[in-house]
Amino acid sequence: MAASTIFSDCSSSATARLLPFRKIRSSALFFRHSSISLHPTAPSHRKSSSAIVPLAMTTETSAKVIDGKLVSKQIRDEITSEISRMKDAIGVVPGLAVILVGARKDSQTYVRNKKKACEAVGITSYEVHLPEDCTEEEVLKSILGFNKDPSVHGILVQLPLPRHMNEENILNAVCIEKDVDGFHPLNVGRLAMRGREPLFVPCTPKGCIELLHRCGVDIKGKRAVVIGRSNIVGMPAALLLQRQNATVTIVHSYTNNPEEITRQADIVISAAGVANMVRGDWIKPGAVVIDVGINPVDDSESPRGYRLVGDVCYEEACKVASAITPVPGGVGPMTIAMLLSNTLHSAKTLHNFK
Ligand code: NDP
Repeated sequence: MAASTIFSDCSSSATARLLPFRKIRSSALFFRHSSISLHPTAPSHRKSSSAIVPLAMTTETSAKVIDGKLVSKQIRDEITSEISRMKDAIGVVPGLAVILVGARKDSQTYVRNKKKACEAVGITSYEVHLPEDCTEEEVLKSILGFNKDPSVHGILVQLPLPRHMNEENILNAVCIEKDVDGFHPLNVGRLAMRGREPLFVPCTPKGCIELLHRCGVDIKGKRAVVIGRSNIVGMPAALLLQRQNATVTIVHSYTNNPEEITRQADIVISAAGVANMVRGDWIKPGAVVIDVGINPVDDSESPRGYRLVGDVCYEEACKVASAITPVPGGVGPMTIAMLLSNTLHSAKTLHNFK
């Protein structure tokens, strides 16, 4: 697929107004391209030293769509070539081990997709599938085996675990050097502390920030609102935005007036898991909206009887935001790309390969 565009027009019927993708290679995994300018609305923004680029107010009603599929494809291509460079130079192929407990259909699908994605870029995948009623010790035994295995550079325990297991014990058992999900408390703690660097950052929030970077959205000095504070998305997303010098507010289920708070944000990351919760009038004109939510809603016209929507009421937000991620096709593909990226990073670090 030609890496020609990163945005497409918001309306699904329209194909016009595609912005050219300009690739500036700064490292194997990171590059930037044409930027999105946030539209100021309040006079205070125009007067302040905020990094928001002043734009003439516009009557434009269609946000640019941030194409997560395309960005993730570019990242996977970069990873593929890095893996072949490493293999040629030192004969090492990165390995990712996935531990799946139980028979949840969604978890099985996620694991299958991760394996496929690994194969496509040249990462060897290893899988242990344990029955729902297995013991915590059995899971720990698998983790400890992979911790010692030199051909495994990343270990992932598919969540959620069955109720009888202690998630904390299990995630703590993954050695920090192979914690490609970034859920180990040491990695999370380092993420939260100034002057400390986590070895790995959780994949979904990392994917959100990567999308912002690759779309040229300047985060520094911006007001950001993260909706949701889970350990795997909301909380690390807020920490990452703060590390990028945004001023961050977290909205959660006890927040009063979430719409008023969200309306102040130049950047919104929503990870609440509530379909269409964020309405158009929650969005500040010109804001950039990253919708993490994946929520099934009934749809009699779909063969499956449902379709997936985000937390953000897309049709409304498109008319207000300057850029928005679709669901599906926004953050979702980035999560797997970041897992592959973390696994490659781990292999390079463990083998001291630059
Ligand atoms: P959780 O259920 O663990 O967390 C949801 C968070 O949202 C909580 O902090 C909760 O607040 C907050 N919340 C719930 N309802 C409201 C509300 N009405 N107003 C404000 N805040 C609210 O979910 P996850 O973080 O695991 O996932 C969130 C969404 O992201 C889901 O739709 C999930 O499917 C999706 N997801 C997508 C991924 C991807 O790759 N695109 C990856 C992971 C998740 P409180 O803490 O007060 O309970």
